[in-house]
Amino acid sequence: MKAQQFVVIGLGRFGASLALELMEKGYEVLGIDHNEERVEEMTDKLTHAVMADATDEGVMRSLGVRNLDCGIVAIGDNMERSILTAILLKELGVKMVVAKAISILHGRALEKLGVDRVIFPERDMGIRVAHQLVTPHLLDYIELSKDYKIVELTVPSCMDGKSLAEINTRAKYGCSIIALNREGGVIVAPTAHDYLYAGDIMVVIGSNESIDQFEEEAVNREEAEA
Ligand code: ATP
Repeated sequence: MKAQQFVVIGLGRFGASLALELMEKGYEVLGIDHNEERVEEMTDKLTHAVMADATDEGVMRSLGVRNLDCGIVAIGDNMERSILTAILLKELGVKMVVAKAISILHGRALEKLGVDRVIFPERDMGIRVAHQLVTPHLLDYIELSKDYKIVELTVPSCMDGKSLAEINTRAKYGCSIIALNREGGVIVAPTAHDYLYAGDIMVVIGSNESIDQFEEEAVNREEAEA
């Protein structure tokens, strides 16, 4: 079942932006922070924003937190409070508990407590930005497993006007273009007769090795042409 009602605990930069995005997507969000200013800032923007200590079981019960589908612990810096809050959400019976970790050890502790999803925003964003900096055409990527990924790349000018048959990524590199996104719309599962145009976004699936090779070749060719 998809979560409909969320409680976000900790309305710092991470918690606040997550809560606002959920609101934007039409979900109900209860925001909790023990800092008055942070709560005031969010009062008009969330379904409810409450000033409370999230480690206080009585308060959390009275707020009806246990009836919500998903709890996000967005407290990072104070590991003790983050862990106590995560335990409390689990004990109260919140179906899905997500928590932000600031170190591997913190993450491991949260996992051991049964937190359903541990996220490392700073670490993951650092990795993502590093990838994007060294691969100019890379817009985004998803790791499917240790060895496979899906990437979004802008089509370089050296591929402008070429058909997928000409580019032939499957035979040359072992990866496949599974979608094209351009101004006119998205082409899902393009065929060999579809064409690439510079600036289009292509979604490519394959092994890390095959995609890295494809990226490198596209970029190198682009640089050679420049
Ligand atoms: P961010 O990196 O997201 O900007 P931050 O650096 O401001 O966060 P953190 O220590 O990660 O600070 O805490 C995030 C938020 O959680 C803060 O607004 C803080 O007031 C709140 N918070 C911390 N402990 C509790 C608690 N026990 N109950 C409620 N809110 C808490």
